[in-house]
Amino acid sequence: MSDIPGSLLPWQAEQWQAFVDRFDQGRLAHAWLLRGAAGVGKLHFAKAFAALALCESDASEISGQPREACGYCQGCRLMQAGSHPDYMLLSPEQAGKAIKIDQIRQLTGFTEKTALRQGRRVIIISPAEQMNHNAANALLKCLEEPAGDTIFLLVSSQLSLLLPTIRSRCQQLVFPVPPHDTAKDWLEKQDTVVSSAAESLLEMAGGRPLLAREYASKDIQQQQQILIDGLQDVSSGRRTPVEVAADWLDVPQDRLTGWMQQWLYQMVRFAAGSNTGLENQVGGKMLVYIAGKSGSKNLVQLYDWLLQQNNIMNRGMNLNRQLFCEQLLIRWLHLTVR
Ligand SMILES: [Zn+2]
Repeated sequence: MSDIPGSLLPWQAEQWQAFVDRFDQGRLAHAWLLRGAAGVGKLHFAKAFAALALCESDASEISGQPREACGYCQGCRLMQAGSHPDYMLLSPEQAGKAIKIDQIRQLTGFTEKTALRQGRRVIIISPAEQMNHNAANALLKCLEEPAGDTIFLLVSSQLSLLLPTIRSRCQQLVFPVPPHDTAKDWLEKQDTVVSSAAESLLEMAGGRPLLAREYASKDIQQQQQILIDGLQDVSSGRRTPVEVAADWLDVPQDRLTGWMQQWLYQMVRFAAGSNTGLENQVGGKMLVYIAGKSGSKNLVQLYDWLLQQNNIMNRGMNLNRQLFCEQLLIRWLHLTVR
């Protein structure tokens, strides 16, 4: 994702302005929790703000334009090069795994040193809910007694998994799903998106534009096709759940559960009689058929089961992927075969 100045997401302009005004007036709390659904641009916002907070230019803002990092000063160049000494982005070392206490210790060391350029530091932790328990506890102290001028931006799309004590020490900034037309407009302008596909990508992503853009990539479409083919083959008896599960191991877990949840959600709505645009998606005809045959009660049960599994995984517990996929597919099969 490009984080160059001028890349402010159009649906965030107002929120951005209010946040930057507070910052300019010296009224910004030092710890923030940026929360909202995945794929609406929380991390994008956090990075753009980090760039602004560390920008060393005093150029006054262009009237009518939101103030952003200048993109040219030494601070901005260091940010673009990924080597600003007063900036830290903390994420799991491996996607989908926990943020560990060692990483928080590094962070603590970082905040104890003097900020090197302008006296201010910015730390982003994303996804914050992936801090394991020890890591979260270690962070608490840092949040309570921040050293110097330090701004913490915690990014989370699953607030319920975050320690309440962490939540209570942060001001919250909520990111809603943007209005459909704004999102579609933006999506159509993205290089990787064929504009005629924007509507269905957005539908697929539950209205979340950054997620929809991600879905447009070739790899991801292939992965999606692997899942749809698997569901279809299991339903039609062409392949067994065990065979399909082996095929699904290449699809990243978060994507797999994300899609399954989205499909099931749309299927529930379809079964309840609302028009969700489901039939226009990849595999839509099959999903509509299964939804009609299964009925909403069974779909909701499967959806709940998936949420539970997802929560287990988000707590950093290891899950046997093959077994998980097999169970999911057997449950899927039971939607129509009883
Ligand atoms: Zn700058």
